[in-house]
Amino acid sequence: MKKTKIVKIGNLEVGGNNPIRIKGMLKAPAKKIDLLIKEAKLLEKEGVEAIRVAVPEEEDAKLAGILKNYVSVPIAADIHFQPKLAVLAINSGFDQIRLNPLNISNKKDVKRIAQLAGQKGISMRVGLNSGGFRQPGITREELAKQMVDKSSEYIEILESQNFFDIMVSLKCADIGTTITANRMFRKKYDYPLHVGITATGSYLEGIIKSSVGLGIMLNEGMGEIIRVSLTTDSLAEVKVAKYITQSLGLRNFGPEIISCPTCSRCEVNLPEIVAKFKKRLEDRDCKEPLKIALMGCVVNGPGEAAQADLGVAFGKTEGVLFKKGKVFKKTKDDRVIDDLAKELEKYEPKRD
Ligand code: SF4
Repeated sequence: MKKTKIVKIGNLEVGGNNPIRIKGMLKAPAKKIDLLIKEAKLLEKEGVEAIRVAVPEEEDAKLAGILKNYVSVPIAADIHFQPKLAVLAINSGFDQIRLNPLNISNKKDVKRIAQLAGQKGISMRVGLNSGGFRQPGITREELAKQMVDKSSEYIEILESQNFFDIMVSLKCADIGTTITANRMFRKKYDYPLHVGITATGSYLEGIIKSSVGLGIMLNEGMGEIIRVSLTTDSLAEVKVAKYITQSLGLRNFGPEIISCPTCSRCEVNLPEIVAKFKKRLEDRDCKEPLKIALMGCVVNGPGEAAQADLGVAFGKTEGVLFKKGKVFKKTKDDRVIDDLAKELEKYEPKRD
């Protein structure tokens, strides 16, 4: 699929040949500044590349200035209903504003906001969610078309003001409609797409819906920036977004753990071992792009994980370490993980 144009959120380039970007959203209440700062710092540490924050009232426009004292990632303002909040947010130093064409639709207002955003050099996300199109019995294709038509009307207004720093999101709770809408949009425009599945439901269902939806779109080359929406904390959303892009080979955020599903051959508590090892990698802040296998038995483990750069397989009392499927060391089960960690150090840059 051909590359989109590049649109910036602050210093962050989105689209073109840039990697798929990861956006996060703050969830702490708008007035709890300390919690918002803490959350933004956590997301930045996790690797988020842009943060969106809701601006529901005038005084919340000051959040851009506050947050920028603590994090260096660009900050986007989420604006609904009140054009004056968009004006305030632009003047208060946000790097992007998100407008919803369904609730800020007056042409005069949109033109004024586009002119101001253009003067300040900030981008705009035209963010449409299917929830605003309430028509019973509407088909997936009809809904997708309505969303794309609505975004087109908005884009025409923005372009009439010589404003082209646009990215667009077309999100639905239904995966098929989201994909259809984004495909339709991509055929028509080369503005970057911010993609995600909205209102995904609880934790596990949400992860599955997001993975399936984003997986299909990203694999087709649609989506220059993603945000995962889950009914849980914002840190988990960013972690899931990272896993999705890494699993498709689009980003690399550090080691990837390969572990077997276990079967009757497994004689250790592999889920516990994997959880502990992941924690150990996190504590070490390990960034090496390695595939590391943790397998439940020595009989099949090394062969089943032959794609791993480094791995271990457990036996009844003795395990093995292997590289690319070839065993190079035998060791007691209770030593296997320590030996693996030592081996891993050889791949890591020297630390003070
Ligand atoms: S690696 Fe061994 S324990 Fe794990 S699923 Fe395969 S056969 Fe079973």
